This record gives sequence, structure tokens and C-alpha cells, in this order.
Amino acid sequence: MRILIADDDATSRLLLKAVVTKMEHECLVATDGTSAWEMLTSEGIDVLLTDWMMPGVNGPDLCRRVRDEQSGGYVYIVLITGLHHPEQVLEGMGAGADDFLIKPVDPFSVQTRLIAAKRVTELHRQVAEFRAQLEAANVEATQRSLTDALTGLGNRRRMEEDLAGVHAKAIRAGRTFAVTLFDVDHFKLYNDHYGHLAGDEALRQVAQCFKMAVRAGERAYRYGGEEFLLLLPDCSMESARLAAERIRRTVASSVIPHDARPTPPPVVTISGGVTCWMPGSPWSTSDLLLRADEALFAAKSAGRNRIHVVPAFPDDERACPPVLSRQIELGT
Ligand code: GH3
Ligand code: MG
Ligand code: MG
Repeated sequence: MRILIADDDATSRLLLKAVVTKMEHECLVATDGTSAWEMLTSEGIDVLLTDWMMPGVNGPDLCRRVRDEQSGGYVYIVLITGLHHPEQVLEGMGAGADDFLIKPVDPFSVQTRLIAAKRVTELHRQVAEFRAQLEAANVEATQRSLTDALTGLGNRRRMEEDLAGVHAKAIRAGRTFAVTLFDVDHFKLYNDHYGHLAGDEALRQVAQCFKMAVRAGERAYRYGGEEFLLLLPDCSMESARLAAERIRRTVASSVIPHDARPTPPPVVTISGGVTCWMPGSPWSTSDLLLRADEALFAAKSAGRNRIHVVPAFPDDERACPPVLSRQIELGT
């Protein structure tokens, strides 16, 4: 252990140092409370053997500071006092000391305190290690719960969280943002022709294209099945269309064979539907996703392997969200 002796009395320091070194611990020495505190904050001390009355910071105040500002490992504190009154000993223990010794100190009592100190600091070290492992496992579990296992992209849950965050920020700051929903073309035929496992591999390759083609600030997710979503914070409709085109081109030019495709090219392609949210728009995130789905449907109907854009509010002739407009059409 690394042990700090804080005592302004030279005889006491000598005696304590002799015991500490005899027990083969590392020994540091301070002759006043102020330098003791400096060493406590910088030297990674395991045990503090401190006098009660010292120049600068006194023993109980040193205890309080250690306990108040404890950030690294646990410091085991033995307060050494010439005061015999039980109330004063209790005050020292209340200030943060783990044990006490009454002066004049005998080497045997110091030895027994150091044995207990070793056990306690070791236990604290184990607890700290266990807590760090637990925290790391928690971070990993959270990360896993937000990642799509097949492709390694963010999953739908992460997308919903991010989209809600971007939407809220756009409302607050009056910013524009865009979403594009993509869908792999004729993927059922791909599975039927090559088998489901090959289909999984094709989805991984498409995801890889997203990872390669997205730029800083753009975020790609697996929306579900053979659908992917691109979220573009602080992005205009035209920039979003260009980004979607970039991804579509990357997938098509990676030439993943799809011989069962009914129309050329005989490779895996994707279609995409783009829409954007503009300041003043009443659209919720679900409204936006519905609009993107409508745009995607239009891209599919127009022949696939293309990007379709739907106007954003307020340019859209339907000046209300799709859910609402659908309700109006249905008269509900
Ligand atoms: P379209 O061009 O209109 O999108 O046609 P499509 O065949 O891609 O669309 P459809 O919705 O009919 O079929 C989607 C297919 O995607 C069916 C389903 O089995 C497949 N699929 C969805 N998720 C996965 C997956 O995780 N792995 C594999 N291998 N296939 C999947
Ligand atoms: Mg689909
Ligand atoms: Mg599809």
C-alpha cells in the first residue's frame, strides 16, 4: 500500500515510518496538514496516518476533505490523537476517520491498524472494479439494444430516439431537416431465387453501402425488413435528394447480382422517398415518416431504382399533415 504519514512531530513520524517500512509498504511523509492535502490529491494514497493537531489543515479537517472530494480509490484513515476524551475520538470518526490511535503510539497498534487497512482498501478496490465492469456492461447492453444485429446499423428504436431529438431541436431552433425511406427492390424475388441466408448477406452488403456513402452528420438506420432510413439534420430538400441519390447510386454500382429481377439492371437496387420538415410545419415525426413512405411508394410505382421527393409543408398543396388529411378524406 501507499501510506502517507502526516505529523508535525518528528519522533512520532520516525516511529510510524519504521513500522510502515518494516511492513514493506511505500511510505510518504508530510510535516503539516497543507502539504498532506496536496499529496492526498496527487499521489494516489491508500492509507493516511494523520496527527490530530498540525499546522495548516488539522486532522479532522483533512478527514472531511478526503471524504468530501473522494474521487479515485478509497483512502483508509487512522487518526492519531493525544486527546483521550471519547467525544473527541467520536468527532474524529464522524469527520471520516476509519480508526484511531492514542499517543504515545506503540508499533504493535500501528501494525494491527495497517492489516485492517489492507483488507478494507482491497475490498473497496474490488467494489470499484466491479462497478466499472458493470457500467461498461451497461453501456454495451444499451449500445446493443440500439443496434441492428444483422447489419450493425442503428435499429428502429435508435432511429425513433434520434428522429424525435432532431425534430425537437428543429422546432426550437427553427431548422430544416430531412428523412429518406429506402426499400430494396424486388427483394422477395431475391430471397426466392438465392435463399434467405443469401438475402441476409445482401442486406448486409446494402448496409455496407450506406456506411460507405453517408457523410458526416448523416445517420443511417435499418428501419425494418429490407427498409433503411437516412436522417439528415440541418438539411434542405435539395441536399436530401442529392444525398439519397448518392446512396442509391452506391448500392446500384456495388453490383450485387440479382438475376431474378424482372427488369434491368440485374443487380440489387433500392428506391427512396424523400421529405423534409421546415420551420412552422405542424408535422409530427410520424407524419414525416408517412410522407416519406408515400414518396417511396411513388418511386416504386415509377419503376424502382429511383428517388422520389414529396413537397414539404407549407409548399405542399395539402396544408395539413397526411394523417389529418386522410381523416378529412374519410370524413372522420
Ligand atoms: P418491392 O420492390 O416492391 O419492394 O418488392 P419486394 O419484393 O422487395 O417487397 P415485398 O414487401 O413483397 O418483400 C419484401 C421481402 O423482404 C420479403 C421478406 O422475406 C424479405 N425480408 C425482410 N426482412 C428480411 C431479412 O431480414 N432477411 C431476408 N433474407 N429477407 C428479408
Ligand atoms: Mg418493404
Ligand atoms: Mg422491397
